[in-house]
Amino acid sequence: MSKEFDAVVLGAGAAGLMCAIEAGKRGRRVAVLERAEKIGKKILISGGGRCNFTNIHCAPENFLSANPHFAKSALARYPPKDFIALVEKHKIPYHEKTLGQLFCGRSASDITQMLETERRAAGVQAFLNQKTREISKTTEFLIRADGEEFRTPALVVATGGLSIPKMGATPLGYEIAKQFGLKIQETRPALVPLTFSEKDKRNYCDLTGVSMEVVAAADGHVFREKMLITHRGVSGPAVLQASSYWQPRKPVCIDLAPGHNVTSALLQGKTKSDSALRNAFVGVMPKRFAERWIELHPPKDWTNAAIDNFEKALHRWEIVPSGTEGYEKAEVTAGGVDTDELSSKTMESRRVPGLFFIGEVVDVTGHLGGFNFQWAWASGAAAGRAL
Ligand SMILES: Cc1cc2nc3c(=O)[nH]c(=O)nc-3n(C[C@H](O)[C@H](O)[C@H](O)COP(=O)(O)OP(=O)(O)OC[C@H]3O[C@@H](n4cnc5c(N)ncnc54)[C@H](O)[C@@H]3O)c2cc1C
Repeated sequence: MSKEFDAVVLGAGAAGLMCAIEAGKRGRRVAVLERAEKIGKKILISGGGRCNFTNIHCAPENFLSANPHFAKSALARYPPKDFIALVEKHKIPYHEKTLGQLFCGRSASDITQMLETERRAAGVQAFLNQKTREISKTTEFLIRADGEEFRTPALVVATGGLSIPKMGATPLGYEIAKQFGLKIQETRPALVPLTFSEKDKRNYCDLTGVSMEVVAAADGHVFREKMLITHRGVSGPAVLQASSYWQPRKPVCIDLAPGHNVTSALLQGKTKSDSALRNAFVGVMPKRFAERWIELHPPKDWTNAAIDNFEKALHRWEIVPSGTEGYEKAEVTAGGVDTDELSSKTMESRRVPGLFFIGEVVDVTGHLGGFNFQWAWASGAAAGRAL
């Protein structure tokens, strides 16, 4: 026999739990179905185990979407301070790490425990180990999961994106959207390390582990943070951010010495030599990278013009990545359910009344730094208040 609820939420991740809690608090009978054996598994591994749960500088500009205006309403109605108030109500220690990023002081499990406590208080029923298999709709939605059947007039899809398939990411959300005729913006891995061309691999990959502050730019979007050389290419926050805007076969432009004029002393001084040039890099970037750079891009001669060109090249390293490390390494999935299909106020489908999409499955992708969770909380709250 099928179980009846006012609303069924598919996926007990950040967005699904927030939505269920908001609806439960308003007296709705809500079920959350989760394929894993516990709730919020991605929250547990997020932020290196400390969960960067929001960003105090959150603004619509921190999100990518085919419609950059879509996220504004939900973000405004559930700002970071609302989630911070919840964290403080549960006496969870937290701190700002950098650039407005708030992390748990102890562990990400503080956030999942908080959500679990809120879920119970709101009377929301959780069904774990319930992989959703099939959805159909007559007057109501019928959901077939592992051994259970659910009936509801309101179905909320919060099954996340495709990143980290090892953790059990499934394309269910996109499949449901297609089943009901909703458009999808093509999905792609985002916040993902980029891979070098074969030549760059030969030139730089033995420097794996070298990290330095850079400005990385892709498609006109510029990020000043750390870059890390990996055994396949480049990563680190600056590159992850740029990766979300990177288009295949296009370059990523990297300023290797932002704010420095490395050769100014050299131009003014009497001695212009290899060792004077190497010394000019002290305090600007790691020695190993500087030496490799000089080896691969030596000034043609010691004329001022040649030194000037050397300086310019240093601030404009153009790499054309061979690709990305894919969903295995991507922190999020860009693209997803087209926002034209949804109400920006409630996240409900315009075509299919009672069908909602929230969180990462929607074509709204945050920058690195707590923005993706903030979107999950905000879109979850928007739907939860409409159920
Ligand atoms: C390694 C890593 C670190 C990250 N760190 C941060 C961070 O510090 N800060 C930040 O803002 N963002 C971070 N992110 C991104 C963030 O985790 C996601 O954007 C966010 O979890 C999306 O929330 P969601 O609820 O939409 O999806 P999810 O959290 O992915 O939840 C979806 C849920 O649906 C379930 N599900 C999937 N398919 C089915 C099915 N067929 N049946 C039933 N259930 C199903 C899944 O098991 C999962 O529990 C990180 C991501 C990764 C991979």
